[in-house]
This record gives sequence, C-alpha cells and structure tokens, in this order.
Amino acid sequence: MKIEIDKYAGFCFGVTKAIQNAENLSKEAQGIYCLGQIVHNAKEEDRLKKLGMITINHSNIKEISNKKMLIRAHGEPPATYKLAKSNNVEIIDATCPVVLNLQKKIKEKYNENPNNQIVIFGKKGHAEVNGLVGQTNGKALVISNIKEANNIDINKPVFLFSQTTSNYQEYCRIETYLKEKSISTYGNIDNITVFQTICPSVKNRIPRLREFCQNKELILFVSDYNSSNGNMLFEVCKNANSQSYFVTSPDELEKKWFKNKTSVGISGATSTPLWLMEQVKKKANTLV
Ligand code: SF4
Repeated sequence: MKIEIDKYAGFCFGVTKAIQNAENLSKEAQGIYCLGQIVHNAKEEDRLKKLGMITINHSNIKEISNKKMLIRAHGEPPATYKLAKSNNVEIIDATCPVVLNLQKKIKEKYNENPNNQIVIFGKKGHAEVNGLVGQTNGKALVISNIKEANNIDINKPVFLFSQTTSNYQEYCRIETYLKEKSISTYGNIDNITVFQTICPSVKNRIPRLREFCQNKELILFVSDYNSSNGNMLFEVCKNANSQSYFVTSPDELEKKWFKNKTSVGISGATSTPLWLMEQVKKKANTLV
C-alpha cells in the first residue's frame, strides 16, 4: 500500500505568514490576541492557543487597550482599524497581500463613483467578505450563487469581484449569465466589468488536485467544515475520484475505506497544516 501526501497541499503563503506572526508574538511577555479564528482549522488554532495566543471577537477589542492584536490573513473592514485605534490597541496586520490588493481595487471602484454597483461573489458573513464590503461603506451586494445573480441590476454599471477562495466554475457561470443577459437586453456588455480575483494559490491547485485524485484509489481530504476553499477543493476530489472522504482528524478514518485499495492520497485545504496530514498518514498506515 502506497500512501502519499499531495505535494501541493498545506498552508498557502498568506496563512503561513499569519501563523508565523502568531507563533513569534506568542513568545512575547504580553502575548497576542487574534481577532477571530486565525485559520479555519480548529486543530491548528488549538496548537497556537497552547503557545499563548488568545482568540477574541470584535466586542472584546475595547477590553485589550495597550495590547497587540493580530489581524489574520482574511483581513478586516476599515471600522475594525478605527475601533482598535480608538482603544489604543496595536494592530499586527497579517492580512494576506492578495486580499489587500482586492480590498484596494474594490475601494478604488467605489470611490470612483459611489453609485457603481459593486458585487462580491462570496460567502455572506465570511471575515474576508466583511472586509471587502467594508471598503464600500457596506453598500456592496454579496451573492453566494448564480441564482442570487438575479438580484444584480444590469441597468447600472456592474463591477463584479470574487472572494479569493470562491468556486472558480461558479464564478465563470455568473460572469456568463450577466454578459448574456446584458447582450440580450442592450446588445452589448458595456455595463459589465468582471475582475479575476480568485487567489492563484487556490485556483492553481484545482487541476493539480484533480490529477492527484485520478491517480489514487482512495483520497483522504483533511480540512474543517468552515473552510471555504476546503469545501470547494473537496468537490474537486469527489468529481475526480468517487472514493474521496472528508476528515477533520485521524480519528475519523474508517478501516473499511482501505479494503482492496493499493494507493491512498492525502490532501487538504490551504488552511490545513502539514502536521495534521502527517498524523492522518500515520493513522492510515495502521489501518491498511
Ligand atoms: S488563499 Fe490566497 S488569498 Fe487566501 S490567504 Fe492564502 S494566499 Fe492569501
């Protein structure tokens, strides 16, 4: 039995940077407060909590004056920076550069004309999406699927952006839908501007993951259920290999999955630590 960890799995550079910040600051005497779950992986969060990191929410900001607060890779809306400043909280900003760039583009389009219709394809309430909507004074329209694209008014200029970890295929379908609707109404697509803002770290993994899954008899995909890119990448696994299982820890592995299998692949989200995939591999070795 050959068990292989996908060489492209593991933290992306944005998550790596946030985790390094958390590890370094945890060693300082005053410790570090992280605003929200540092990464959508409870096991990794637990590891960092053991080092001294404390997870807080927005309502706690006023209680940590003169302390350091980490902003994770997902970023935050401008209101969070103002709140921290007014409470003398020092921000350590680990917003991923890819997200920062997207925030900047959205802000530019909004500032050009506040009547521009800014549309964000993403998960409502997700931290990154909240940070993006905050660039438009809360005015951006968030859509989570193609059905909700019906809510977009094509009579006004539309600027469509995507959350960095959204589903690429669905984004393409939304783009096609809007352009076709505009052509059938006006004979042109002058009002529709679509920005390609899905993160390359996620997008480039899709064909590689598909190939990895097609070459294995069994796939163990390690992630947490609240990871957007984890859910999206697991769909890729299932479409490429029907023998794909989503697990959050080694304890969830079942012996029957391994029956008559000679090759097993282990992969995960951009928020899944390598050490957790190695634990899954170790457990899998005991079940073959
Ligand atoms: S998935 Fe992309 S945008 Fe998100 S943290 Fe990683 S590198 Fe940054």
